[in-house]
Amino acid sequence: MKRRISPNLMSHETQCRCGCGYGSKPSDFDPKLLDTFEKIRFLLNMKLGKKNVPVLVSGPARCLKHNREVYMRLYETTAGADGSKHCPDRWGKCRSLDIYQNAVRNKQFHDWILAWQEEGLLPHLGGLGEYHNRVHIDTHWIGRLRRWHG
Ligand SMILES: [Zn+2]
Ligand SMILES: [Zn+2]
Repeated sequence: MKRRISPNLMSHETQCRCGCGYGSKPSDFDPKLLDTFEKIRFLLNMKLGKKNVPVLVSGPARCLKHNREVYMRLYETTAGADGSKHCPDRWGKCRSLDIYQNAVRNKQFHDWILAWQEEGLLPHLGGLGEYHNRVHIDTHWIGRLRRWHG
């Protein structure tokens, strides 16, 4: 069953790929993450002078078990896996998505998100990771924006 997670996110995009069901309902997510996602989509469309350029998800919510499998495949270790913001926090909330779009280069997308954060337009963005084909966003705030390039 497909559920709407937020105005422009559906459960088949956001749920854990192992089939466990985590991430298939709005309450699995930090509301600030969903708000940040929707703002990024809105700001991207504003920037492009368009209305319906989609922002897509390549890194959804992950249960701990599946996250360890993902880490093993990507990094050949489970070290650090359990701290992933894609996994449930102590309240069961996923705080991260990896996102992409097909309108501009990924670096441009990343740089715009950074600029919007600096302008105060994304007040809940806590972490911003740039990868070659996607951008990681999360809401874990430590008093400054955490940034990295993967
Ligand atoms: Zn799972
Ligand atoms: Zn991520």
